[in-house]
Amino acid sequence: MITRLQDPNYDRWAHQIKRTGGCRQPIHLRGKVEHYDRATGRLLHRYSTHTEPDGVLRVACKTRRASRCPACAETYRADTYQLVRAGLVGGKGVPETVAAHPALFVTLTAPSFGAVHVRREKNGKVLPCHARRDAETCPHGQVMSCTSRHAADDPRLGEPLCPECYDYEGSVLFNAVSPELWRRFTEALRRRFARISELTMRELREQLTISFAKVAEYQRRGVVHFHAVIRLDGPTGPASPPPAWATADALEQAVQHAAGAITVEVEPLARVFRWGAQLDVRPITMNGDLTEQAVAAYIAKYATKAAECVGTLDRRIHTLDELALYPLREHAHRLIAECLRLGALDDLADLRLTQWAHMLGFRGHFSTKSRRYSTTLGALRAAREEHQRVEEITTGRLPLFDEDTVLVITHWEYAGKGLSLGDQLLAAAITRTPLLVEGGDPS
Ligand SMILES: [Zn+2]
Ligand SMILES: [Zn+2]
Ligand SMILES: [Zn+2]
Repeated sequence: MITRLQDPNYDRWAHQIKRTGGCRQPIHLRGKVEHYDRATGRLLHRYSTHTEPDGVLRVACKTRRASRCPACAETYRADTYQLVRAGLVGGKGVPETVAAHPALFVTLTAPSFGAVHVRREKNGKVLPCHARRDAETCPHGQVMSCTSRHAADDPRLGEPLCPECYDYEGSVLFNAVSPELWRRFTEALRRRFARISELTMRELREQLTISFAKVAEYQRRGVVHFHAVIRLDGPTGPASPPPAWATADALEQAVQHAAGAITVEVEPLARVFRWGAQLDVRPITMNGDLTEQAVAAYIAKYATKAAECVGTLDRRIHTLDELALYPLREHAHRLIAECLRLGALDDLADLRLTQWAHMLGFRGHFSTKSRRYSTTLGALRAAREEHQRVEEITTGRLPLFDEDTVLVITHWEYAGKGLSLGDQLLAAAITRTPLLVEGGDPS
């Protein structure tokens, strides 16, 4: 820190760090940008990292994962919030009339793979975990009952009552097929609307679009469930109203039907998976119980998380030997080991369970949206970058030029990644971003 602070180039370094928004693991680039006049070939402007601190330009890593970089994850969270909210009330290129379209907040859960310790509350009081009067004793001698009233931070939460009885195979296979379950669910929704409107699928497309934005959340027991905004639009998306018969009630009934109707089979093991019985469907209204801000904040929060809250790792694992190097809780260890076991089976190769063992089998995207839901993260990013570019031009770092008459030659190479511990401390202080995140990797 002292070396950095005494460096005559410190101000420029601090400027770079501010530009990355305090990214904890910035990419270092070495290179140059040259602007030439197309007509005369005259060099108009040259930028080189040669004169930058340490001879490199630092750019943000842009990860969405808070456990890796809290600063970039915060940008991602804010963008996701804007994206989800725009789909509910308009803005960012989405017409405000979208607020009148029927929209539901739907949570699709995973089924049970065995009893786990849970914390339940009723009227502000914590209930016993699994109180059973005539509790069975499992073949491993474990009484299938737990009368503890678990604290919110009890490490046993999500752990099976009996790990030997717990269906680890089912748990990781469910995660692996859950993106396909979601895809079939959205298809079943469309088919249901075709049936109730007595239209063919093609005719339906000319009248109705079903738009959604969804996020995956890991439960403590290590399975994913999905939270989704599902909205009804006319044929061109948010700019056109849905037909009169496509009401919020009709959508709710279609969701209930579709969620119960579809399955995915893992044929080599003759196992069939479906959503859990718990299905939560709530209308989103601007003045009711569930507002568009609440929904957008909820989805955005989970968009920056992965499986680390289950106590697993945020990096790839390929062998049991490698797994043994990490101090994981028993349940997470068993889930990863099960992925490695199933991943070695040729019949299941397409589930790529070894590659996604650290994610407990889930290889889908954390937050996704249908094409017409609202704006895109890319568009939000481009707008921000354009703003920064204009700022650079007005502060004299880049010449104002006409793209048609100026030839831009760039040459960049990768020159490393990350910040030293001292630089991390300074970066956190300069940008007022958290140095470490709860549950994050301190390395
Ligand atoms: Zn970053
Ligand atoms: Zn318990
Ligand atoms: Zn047992």
